Amino acid sequence: MKYNPKQLYQRLWRYSKPYLPRVFLAMFASIVVSGVDVATAKLVKPFVDDVLMAADRGLANLVPIIVIGLAVCKGGGRYIQEYFIKTAGQMVVQDIRNDLYRHSMNLSMGYFSRSSTGNVMSRILNDVGALQRSAADVMVDGLRESFTLMGLTFVAFQSDWRLATIAFLVMPVSIVPASVIGRRIKENTRRGQRTMGTLTRVLQESLAGIKVIKAFGSEDRECQRFRTENKRFYHFIRKVLKYDSAATPVIEILSSFGIGAVLWYGIRRVSDGAMTQGDLSAFIAALFMMYAPMKRLTKVSNTIQRSLGAAERVFELMDEVPEIADQPDAIQAPRAVGNIVFEHVGFSYGDEPVLHDLNLSIRAGEIAALVGPSGGGKSTVIGLLNRFYDPQQGAIHIDGYDIRQLTQDSLKQSMALVDQETFLFNDTVWNNIRYGRPEASDSEVEEAARQAYADEFVRAMPDGYETVIGDRGVRLSGGQRQRICIARAILRDAPILLLDEATSALDTESEATVQKALVNLMNNRTTIVVAHRLSTVMHADKIVVLEGGRIREIGRHQDLLSGDGLYRRLYEMQFADRD
Ligand code: ADP
Repeated sequence: MKYNPKQLYQRLWRYSKPYLPRVFLAMFASIVVSGVDVATAKLVKPFVDDVLMAADRGLANLVPIIVIGLAVCKGGGRYIQEYFIKTAGQMVVQDIRNDLYRHSMNLSMGYFSRSSTGNVMSRILNDVGALQRSAADVMVDGLRESFTLMGLTFVAFQSDWRLATIAFLVMPVSIVPASVIGRRIKENTRRGQRTMGTLTRVLQESLAGIKVIKAFGSEDRECQRFRTENKRFYHFIRKVLKYDSAATPVIEILSSFGIGAVLWYGIRRVSDGAMTQGDLSAFIAALFMMYAPMKRLTKVSNTIQRSLGAAERVFELMDEVPEIADQPDAIQAPRAVGNIVFEHVGFSYGDEPVLHDLNLSIRAGEIAALVGPSGGGKSTVIGLLNRFYDPQQGAIHIDGYDIRQLTQDSLKQSMALVDQETFLFNDTVWNNIRYGRPEASDSEVEEAARQAYADEFVRAMPDGYETVIGDRGVRLSGGQRQRICIARAILRDAPILLLDEATSALDTESEATVQKALVNLMNNRTTIVVAHRLSTVMHADKIVVLEGGRIREIGRHQDLLSGDGLYRRLYEMQFADRD
């Protein structure tokens, strides 16, 4: 374990602090609940001795009132306890989830490329959820059942300490085998679940591949495979059933020895006049009532273990230090003019260097196209400008500021990124475009869409700008998605544009429209583009040919073409047939 349990408890305690009044109220209520249980056991004696044996009619009238009164107290107590502890738990969970989400949003891209999305999601949802369930369980069950158990033990010893001593010596005899049986059940359940997993896979595979099975006439073979797995499952489940069915009888038989001994001795004590019938009845009632709390308390320790595991995973994510954070004296830069300089930039994701001593300067308003074979480091250059990562050597300057000196907010304000992944939120067209500048007015959004050549097709959709697109909304073509993303960037109106052109084959017509939209977008901005489109490359002020993380050539299209370098070879390979 990375954390010791004490640290975990302390941190959980810090989260619980604001809700302590609720927790205390619930604790108080849980004491009421266990108090009622203990009182019930205690009332057995007067019930037997004074009401039953003495046949007292006056007191008998009180019995239903007491029974109802106790039930009301217990019910009320239980309600208050459950409601307040569970709401407190949920509020703590809400706070932890919010913190965890905020923290993971601020983690650097490096973290997300190292760990899977599923992993982060499962910590925020499942682990925090497990924490809540178990914390509430421990508080509710642990406290209430311990009180009940203590009270009942007290009642038992008060009724007759000799008898109680015998009972407490005999009781472990039935607890030990019960725990052995419990372990066996768990073991075989786990094996059974694994087999069920295999069975599911066989099923899934054969249904998905039903065409192949039928084509090869291998139905019988598949049935045999299924039958084998199915039998294996039965094999484990049979064991579970065996132990499960044995559990109660074994415990009952074993405890019958204890109960027999206790009754035998108890009845002798009663006939000797050492205790009353009421004492013996109260004693037996207390003993039986102990069964449920004891069973629940044995579960509490499992629950604590599980919740510590969950807490550890939660706090591990919470303690992940973002690799990129604002410096304490970070500068809030004004809107950038757009002069970009890479100075001796060296970078690697891991051990393998990706960029070597990169020097590049781009003046405000220029279009610089990055070209070169894949893996050359083009996207990495764009990522560095966005501060997804920081370079290990050298520096990147915008308008003379080292970008590491700027607040990330002010840096991002100056940039718009249009990526190959045309990600759209499952939201209306309005909101998807407005993501670029949340305070933009409707007419500004429409104007951006017009410039991105998106207005026309958006209006043609059933609900126009209100249409929900993205994940589960209306499906858009690749070109349409790109144009929405371009509209988003136009609306953002940032002085620096970072563009990773999509390589996905658009048909000629949508490519032409996307191209026109891009021209509008690049207008009057410093643009760095990972270029695949011939027209972009031809019109660039600067073509930067990157290979193996080094700049091989820089120049304009015509100049590079007239040379005999990499650009010309690339051009001939990729673009010649389209020229
Ligand atoms: P390009 O855009 O020119 O195709 P990239 O900048 O995407 O090149 O990649 C340059 C090199 O860095 C490649 O070798 C690639 O495998 C590696 N790389 C890219 N992204 C990561 C990452 N997140 N983690 C580790 N290596 C990466």
